Amino acid sequence: MADQLSGAGLAAASDIPSLDRLLNAEALRPALATHGRTQVVAALRRDLEALRKRALDGGVPRHELDAAAVAARTSAALDEAARPRLRAVYNLTGTVLHTNLGRALLPDEAVASVLRALTSPANLEFDLDTGGRGDRDDLIDDLLCELTGAEAATVVNNNAAAVLLMLNALADRREVVVSRGELVEIGGAFRIPDIMKRAGAKLVEVGTTNRTHAADYENAIGPRTAMLMKVHCSNYAVTGFTKSVDVADVAALAHARGLPATVDLGSGTLVDLTQFGLPKEDTVRETIAAGADLVTFSGDKLLGGPQAGLLVGRADLIRKIKKNPLKRALRVGKLTLAALEPVLQLYRAPEFLAQRLTTLRLLTRPMRDIQPQAERLRGVLAHAAGPGYAVEAVPMFSQIGSGALPIDQLPSYGLAVRYAGCGRPGRHLDRLETQLRRLPVPVIGRIADDALWLDLRCLEDRDEAAFTAQLAEPLA
Ligand SMILES: *Cc1c(COP(=O)(O)O)cnc(C)c1O
Repeated sequence: MADQLSGAGLAAASDIPSLDRLLNAEALRPALATHGRTQVVAALRRDLEALRKRALDGGVPRHELDAAAVAARTSAALDEAARPRLRAVYNLTGTVLHTNLGRALLPDEAVASVLRALTSPANLEFDLDTGGRGDRDDLIDDLLCELTGAEAATVVNNNAAAVLLMLNALADRREVVVSRGELVEIGGAFRIPDIMKRAGAKLVEVGTTNRTHAADYENAIGPRTAMLMKVHCSNYAVTGFTKSVDVADVAALAHARGLPATVDLGSGTLVDLTQFGLPKEDTVRETIAAGADLVTFSGDKLLGGPQAGLLVGRADLIRKIKKNPLKRALRVGKLTLAALEPVLQLYRAPEFLAQRLTTLRLLTRPMRDIQPQAERLRGVLAHAAGPGYAVEAVPMFSQIGSGALPIDQLPSYGLAVRYAGCGRPGRHLDRLETQLRRLPVPVIGRIADDALWLDLRCLEDRDEAAFTAQLAEPLA
C-alpha cells in the first residue's frame, strides 16, 4: 500500500494538465458540444481543483490525469446536473389521484391543446368576434355552466385559491357559519380555519364534531353573518352517531335569511360516477340544484384535468368575485385553460368518457386487464429482485385519492414482494424499494405489513413494455 502511494504511478500537482490544454483535447469535444463552453470550463475547474488538492495531500494516480479520464468525469458531472428534476415515474402506489405524484393525468386532447398554446399565440384575452379585448374566463365559462347547471363560472389556480377568493370577496370582516364536523385539513397546509383567517372572514363554528343540526346553523345567524358554508369531508368520514345537515336544508336556511349558501365540494365530479361502477359522490350539478349559491372544486381531482380551482354559481356572486383584486393574483395561465377546455369538452359525450378521460379510464380499469398483467409481471419482478425475494400476484385495493371518496376502495390486482431469505426482512424490502425508486423511470410502490406492494391499476397496457424493459436485468 505504502509502496503504491509513493511509487512512480503517482502524479504531483505540477503534472496536472492546464485548463487550456484540456479544452483543446479531442476527448472534451462531446462535452463542449452538449453543454457549452461556460459549463465545461466551470466543471473542469472544479475537477482540476480537486485533483490539485489530492496531489498536494499525497498524490493522484497518473491515469486520472488523462484527458479522457477528465472528460469522462466532467461529462458525468454535467449530465447529472442537467438531468431533469421533475421526472416521470410509475405510480404503483394504488392511489390513482396521488397529490405527491401530480394527481390527474391529462388526456391526449388536452396535451395537444397545451402544446399549441405553448408554441403559438392564442386568443387568451382577445375577442375574435369584435377584435377587442376579451376575458380569459370566457374560454371555459359557457362549458362549465352547461355541465353544472350554474349561471356563471370562473377559474383560479387551485381549489384552495378558489375558497380563499370566495371568502375574501363575499365575507371580508364578516362571519361564515361552518359545522364543526366539516373543519377539514387537506394535506397539512390547507385548513379551513386558517384559510378563513387569511381571507379576513370570521369563522363561526356550529354543532359538534359528530352532530350538527339545522337549528345550530339557524341560531348562529346574526347581523354580521355573510354566508353559511359547507365543506366536503374529503379525506375522512364521520361514522357512528352522526348527523349533518344536507346542502338543500342549509341552502333553505340561508335563503330564508337572505344569505348565500356556499359549498367547498373538494374533488367535485361532473358526472354520476355510479354509472361507471364507482361509488356515489355528489356532482356539482346536484349541489347547484340543491340550492347552493356557489360551489368550488378542484380541476385535477376527479374532474381529471389540470391543477385549477373552479367556482360556479349565481351570476351576481361570480361578478363580485371577479372584481376582487385577489382574482388577478390567483388567475390561471394559458396552459391551464388550454388543458381544461378539452377536458370539459369530453364531458359532453359521457358515452366515451370512461375511455377518453384518463382518470376515469384508470379508475374503471377492469380486473380482466389488471390481473393477467400481474401474472405476466410476477416473473419479471422476481428475476429483477433476485434471490431471497418472493413475488406473488395478489388481489389488493386501490384508492381514488386526493380526498375523493376516502373510505371507498376499488378492487385491484398487483404484486406483493416479501423477503424470505436470511436477515431482517424490513431492511431488504427497504433496499428493493430504493432500487426501484432509482430506476431511470422510478417505480413507486408502498411498504406495509412486511411486504412491498405494487398496485398495477395505473400501469396501462401501452406502458408495460417500457416498464418490463428496465427490469430486464437483476437490480444491482
Ligand atoms: C382538495 C381540497 C381542497 C384543496 O384543493 P386544491 O385544488 O388542492 O387546492 C380544498 N377543499 C377540499 C374539501 C378539498 O377536498
